[in-house]
Amino acid sequence: MRTMKYIGAHTSSAGGVENAVAEAVRIGGNALALFTRNQKSWVSKPLDPKNIAAFKEALQKADIQPKHVLPHDSYLINLGNPTEEGLQKSRAAFLDEMQRAEQLGLTLVNFHPGSHLNQISPEACLDLIAESVNLALSQTTTAVAVIENTAGQGTNLGYDFAHLARIIAGINDKSRVGVCIDTCHTFAAGYDLSTEAGYEETFQQFDRVVGFNYLRGIHLNDSKKGAGSHVDRHESIGQGMLGEAFFGRLMRDPRFDDMPIILETPNEELWPEEIRYLRSLCCQ
Ligand SMILES: [Zn+2]
Ligand SMILES: [Zn+2]
Repeated sequence: MRTMKYIGAHTSSAGGVENAVAEAVRIGGNALALFTRNQKSWVSKPLDPKNIAAFKEALQKADIQPKHVLPHDSYLINLGNPTEEGLQKSRAAFLDEMQRAEQLGLTLVNFHPGSHLNQISPEACLDLIAESVNLALSQTTTAVAVIENTAGQGTNLGYDFAHLARIIAGINDKSRVGVCIDTCHTFAAGYDLSTEAGYEETFQQFDRVVGFNYLRGIHLNDSKKGAGSHVDRHESIGQGMLGEAFFGRLMRDPRFDDMPIILETPNEELWPEEIRYLRSLCCQ
């Protein structure tokens, strides 16, 4: 069976977004993730048209398709923030993320759903997140908001596939909402991907509850901590608790074709080797 996998890493856009593409190429990637603004600050300078042009040119030269690029939003953003000030800041920053993606000719924006901060119910928080996404979609034209599942640390929502389904249910334009599965988060959340039976059951459940038609990308990380630990600690491929057999199963699984498969593994020096290894499992 022929599979087509698009593998990359979250590369640095320091000095200009186009540099993330150059780095993706250097490590042997045919996909990438990046920040399009300073991820640690609420406000960022608008993208310079020169950088936008250089980014588009770099993608074209590298033969990387926009749908294989998965920009990640700022960690400050909480679209389910129960406080009015926090919510407004988050919504403004998220809108900026979506607009930047569109300026760069990209089709996806990956975000962490949000946290209830013990001030509202999980259900109210999920509905608030959906409303926040609707607001951003109504002010943009094409970019798809891609919800990432979480490990469920603290009061973070999105660790249960049912959370993702509830957010999607609240989105008006279903063609502009998607999901990114982070394998470390999934495992830490309690879905045991380390065994063959657990792998099959987890993705059957994902398909039943959310639907593979919403899947737009993968964060491929091994996990330092065990299944159900709710601890978000990424590990290099094959060095954590998911086990090498897991990576073989995923790389050979056609349900993960034609979407960005992004490494967020901790040792960047290993990225070229990790990408080569993953390709050796599927694509020779
Ligand atoms: Zn992730
Ligand atoms: Zn993580």
